[in-house]
Amino acid sequence: MTSAARVSAIQAIAQKSPVSASAHEPGLPESFGSNVFGLQQMRSRLPEAAYRALLSCMHRGQGLEPALADQVANAMKEWALERGATHFTHWFQPMTGSTAEKHDSFLNIENGELLLEFSGKALVKGEPDASSFPSGGLRATFEARGYTAWDPTSPAFIRETTNGATLCIPTAFCSWTGEALDEKTPLLRSAEVLNREALRLLHMLGEKQVGFVYPTLGCEQEYFLVDRDLYMLRPDLIATGRTLFGAKPPKGQELEDHYFGSISPRVLAYMQDVERELWKLGVPVKTRHNEVAPSQYELAPIFERSTVAADHNMLCMEILKSVALQHGFQCLLHEKPYAGINGSGKHNNWSMATDTGENLLDPGNTPGENMRFVVFLTAVIRAVDLHADLLRVAIAHAGNDHRLGANEAPPAILSIYLGEQLTEVVDSLIAGTKGSGANKKDHMRLGVSALPQLPRDATDRNRTSPFAFTGNKFEFRAVGSSQATARPNTVLNTIVADSIAWIADQLGKRGERSLESAVTELVQSALKQHSRVLFNGNGYSAEWHAEAERRGLPNFRSAVDAIGQLSAKKNLELFEKYGVLTAKEVESRTSIQFEAYCKAIAIEAQSALSIARTMVLPAAQKHQAVVAQSVAAVKAAGLAVPGQEKRLRSMTERIEHLLTAIDELALAFEKTEAHHGAVREHALAFRHDVVPAVARLRESCDILETMVDDSLWPLPKYRELLFLQ
Ligand code: ADP
Ligand code: MG
Repeated sequence: MTSAARVSAIQAIAQKSPVSASAHEPGLPESFGSNVFGLQQMRSRLPEAAYRALLSCMHRGQGLEPALADQVANAMKEWALERGATHFTHWFQPMTGSTAEKHDSFLNIENGELLLEFSGKALVKGEPDASSFPSGGLRATFEARGYTAWDPTSPAFIRETTNGATLCIPTAFCSWTGEALDEKTPLLRSAEVLNREALRLLHMLGEKQVGFVYPTLGCEQEYFLVDRDLYMLRPDLIATGRTLFGAKPPKGQELEDHYFGSISPRVLAYMQDVERELWKLGVPVKTRHNEVAPSQYELAPIFERSTVAADHNMLCMEILKSVALQHGFQCLLHEKPYAGINGSGKHNNWSMATDTGENLLDPGNTPGENMRFVVFLTAVIRAVDLHADLLRVAIAHAGNDHRLGANEAPPAILSIYLGEQLTEVVDSLIAGTKGSGANKKDHMRLGVSALPQLPRDATDRNRTSPFAFTGNKFEFRAVGSSQATARPNTVLNTIVADSIAWIADQLGKRGERSLESAVTELVQSALKQHSRVLFNGNGYSAEWHAEAERRGLPNFRSAVDAIGQLSAKKNLELFEKYGVLTAKEVESRTSIQFEAYCKAIAIEAQSALSIARTMVLPAAQKHQAVVAQSVAAVKAAGLAVPGQEKRLRSMTERIEHLLTAIDELALAFEKTEAHHGAVREHALAFRHDVVPAVARLRESCDILETMVDDSLWPLPKYRELLFLQ
């Protein structure tokens, strides 16, 4: 028999059927972009000159002149009103990891007359009260206001909700003194730097026709679904996004029957609604499938310019969560909702593209394209080797600590997987010889033979690598599923821009030497110097950890070990040199990241304590009392019950362990909370004292779960959470 609350949740689930929320809405292609103020809307609603001017601003990421802003705002307002919007909001990404919005209606009253207004000023600049967003000390309260500024590379869109619609304007968020208070501003800055340096190098390589370079991004988003009736009975999921308790179920993911399995009707109905909502917002979602763990899924869009893709991934996460409610699900974006089965990541597919339609990480078919590819590849390899620590910081948070290095996700050591064939090419570039297997006739101008056709199929991909070359892009796989992608991409853009700049600087100093011989020599020496970061083997293995240490590759095991690295001297200098982050901004971000870690662990500790004290302990004691009574009654009747006595004793011991674990966690938490040292030490204390105490408490509770009468157990079990939907 199962506990009453669980029984009614299970009965409710048995009654549920697929929801058809958007079945009567138009399909593709009508729906795609219908809620976006996109090119079509702009062209049809703006005078030709204004349209052209706006395009150019969007393309280059420049701000709008006031007169143009007025025209655009007016056109946007007309469009939004036609689509039922009553309000507008600047939509931004403060350093909370999610998005923020403050709505204003179009309503205005002048001389007693009602007007619907949206000025160019309101479009390009907003002034939300910024005092309650994390600023890491950047903003004293007396100057608490910040401002938001439209990022014209990302189009405005309308969010439809049950009772209305709101015009959303994607914006960057800064303090009045110009410091970035958000994730988007550094991302925009880094994209600009990448453009500048890549253009300089391309022009040197003779590609004068290129006028603009931008980073591209496609995020594969993993997530879990849990039925909402069960979710509501799990205070840990509600407070922390993950289960703090739960014994291993009889069946987990060992049968490997979920991955790419047929999608259940209720889940498929949900996915279809998610996709329709995202298509309306112009998010080009493309693939859907079941992932490895039971009740785990993935969605992936077609890649886009990374500044837009970063916004679109935020929308993706929001829509995944909001549509789930309509379908009686809760969407879990946490990196590790369940112990013992796979967690969720967000593969960050990244490359660089030109306005002439070239992918700079595409090996290409001609010697010229091959040379360009090798040069840009070298830049990425050098960048990752020099700044592996920064990439690690960019994915460092409490949730991701459960995943990285846990034999299901890449290790915390950053290395690059190139695959067999490209490795051969790199080896021969280093050795200065012709690659084997290549077409000898078609010599590359680099002095080595032309690149062989590189495979692009998924067969030989190494899933254990945190940073893998997959045909014509790099896949940064260590990014967490719940993370905003702006941060990892800011780092990627910046470190690669820096290596591109270094290559351009070196080539600029070549004097009389030919470009080919200078490139050959430069590529050779750079690859040689940085080849230690290349690794095609099994990233999960213990041998690799030892080998990586020999190679001198950094290994920051936990988020707390990594975060401080953001302000290492070389990193500060890098960010300042390219104007991506000032020293003050770096300092504030560091303390926000430490604080976020402390808060996450503090919430987990308190949640674990309250569940253990008020749910697990009472259930265990009730069960113990029943067993004790039964043992006493049988013994009174004159029978011996050694087996039952033993069971009662072991149960009692477990309850004693539980009490000890509760006390130890309570003490560790209180001591850590009261700690008034620097934020880094505070985070270290959480990591070293509180995190293990939460784990020990879990152990006690999970053992009791396997002993206590099922009808007394208050928390839905893994077998229910993972399999009932
Ligand atoms: P897999 O799961 O095999 O890695 P998917 O097709 O699920 O492959 O995901 C690949 C992702 O990479 C997609 O989002 C795709 O749009 C993206 N992608 C492809 N080419 C590029 C590129 N040049 N730059 C950035 N992302 C890319
Ligand atoms: Mg992938």
